[in-house]
Amino acid sequence: MSVVSVEAIPVAYPEPNDDNSERHLCLVRVRDDEGRVGWGEAVTMWPEASRATAELIAALEPLVVGRDPLHTERIWQDLRDHMWWYGGAGIASFALSAIDLALWDLKGQVLDRSLLDLLGGPARDQLPVVASGHATSPSIPVLAEEIAGWVQGKAQGVKIGFGKRGSANLGFDHDRDVAFVAAVRQAIGPDPWLMIDLGVRNRWTVAEAVQRTRAFEEHGLHWIEEPLGADDPEGYETLRAKTTALIAYGEREWSVRGLERVIRSGTCDVVGIDPGRAEGITGFLRAARIAETERVTTNAHSWSSAIVLSASLALSWALPSCRLLESKPLANPMQHELAGASGWKPSGGWWPVPDRPGLGIEVDEDVVERFRSTRSIR
Ligand SMILES: [Mg+2]
Repeated sequence: MSVVSVEAIPVAYPEPNDDNSERHLCLVRVRDDEGRVGWGEAVTMWPEASRATAELIAALEPLVVGRDPLHTERIWQDLRDHMWWYGGAGIASFALSAIDLALWDLKGQVLDRSLLDLLGGPARDQLPVVASGHATSPSIPVLAEEIAGWVQGKAQGVKIGFGKRGSANLGFDHDRDVAFVAAVRQAIGPDPWLMIDLGVRNRWTVAEAVQRTRAFEEHGLHWIEEPLGADDPEGYETLRAKTTALIAYGEREWSVRGLERVIRSGTCDVVGIDPGRAEGITGFLRAARIAETERVTTNAHSWSSAIVLSASLALSWALPSCRLLESKPLANPMQHELAGASGWKPSGGWWPVPDRPGLGIEVDEDVVERFRSTRSIR
């Protein structure tokens, strides 16, 4: 059997979990000569990134057509070798990620086994759900009540984005931020994990990060994510020496090599890896094995469509270095409409074992067409 086509499909959709902002993805549909279809995704977020990714995927198609879809490792390597001058870091990794995901989905269907089985099967008995959202109200009591609703009976913890769209205005004022964290802890009770994830607009100094993290620790902060952005190992070293909460970053890395640098820096307790950005499932596996040897926890950055979610679900079950998987609290088109009833959904705070062939979802092509982005195509 062999691959006969690799097609990039940019889509745009309103994301209820991000104040209904328009978000862009570049999906990939791979077909083989026996009529099977595999789906992949690049988490491009912006229209220009989707457009560039689609161009790259179109250019890479000849390297994949005619290949055996079971040969994911060699195809991944050949694509990387082809991109030697412009790949390694940047938008080329979106293209590689999306193609790699689609090939793994197709491989599972060819072999009639789940992606999880292809990865070695479950490495754990349970996989906890953490609700991961951006609350938008300006009122701390309203925010705390909304966030508690994401957790109760639905998740083992919560991760809250600061500096996001909407009117919550979190991450800009020390006293208000501490009051917010205290109110959320009060609302969710003592047991659920509580994580805070800083946004690009927050721009804390190292001293501010130390002060905030220490204050949040008084309310049982489990981890603080990207408090100093994506690339400040010296700052993270200082922060880690002066605080006890876990420090999480890495999700903005593009490659196994970039993730390896973060992991081996000794400044990161939880390394975020986005399979729709950092060289796909093949890249995720390579980076997670490095993390495992360094005793660093890995966390799938899974905040996109049902495709990346399904890949993240299988990876999180299969890899001992993953300990939980996040879930967007609100229903949204690219998860709940794209995969319909076939989409993987948590229940009672736990994720199911993904046991159907490939990614295990049936992508609704009518939904793909409905959200196809014309703005992303010249
Ligand atoms: Mg994050």
